[in-house]
Amino acid sequence: MNRLDYCQALEEILRHNVVWIEAQSCSGESVMVMKSGCKGMEDLFFHSSPVKFLSLLSSERSGYELIREVLSLNDYVLVVEGALPRDQELCKVKDMTCQDLVVRLAQRARAVVAVGSCAVNGGILRESGANSVGVKDVLGKKVYEVLGCPASDKMIVAALYYALSGGPDA
Ligand code: SF4
Repeated sequence: MNRLDYCQALEEILRHNVVWIEAQSCSGESVMVMKSGCKGMEDLFFHSSPVKFLSLLSSERSGYELIREVLSLNDYVLVVEGALPRDQELCKVKDMTCQDLVVRLAQRARAVVAVGSCAVNGGILRESGANSVGVKDVLGKKVYEVLGCPASDKMIVAALYYALSGGPDA
């Protein structure tokens, strides 16, 4: 995929509902996509409907109201960046844990994509005190996985494009 194809694919992806959840993450994958250099990326990623970017740790667009809004969506691809701690108290938004949120969103998602090794298998946090796990460890449905620390932005875009355009459903 050359630069032009990459940006076109990314724009095409962002025309769909994409719910991007940042759990226990250093934002490496978000940064990789943001620094793609594609025109209008920041607006598309952070400010445009229907794209919903949720950081469970810190973000301009975060918080319970946004989560409630996202939980009412019906047709979206769920992207998870970052690990899920076994100790639920380590990743919560008000009364909802990261794991609860991912499980609930995954139930209605047309596809689930785990980006980065933390989201795939817990990554560097798996061996830490947090003893974190990946998305597939808590879901009973297919998860498209993009390994890497950080995962390649090109591979993330390719996985999302594939998930949106005909990859086998869960
Ligand atoms: S996989 Fe690496 S870059 Fe991605 S959230 Fe984990 S530590 Fe950060």
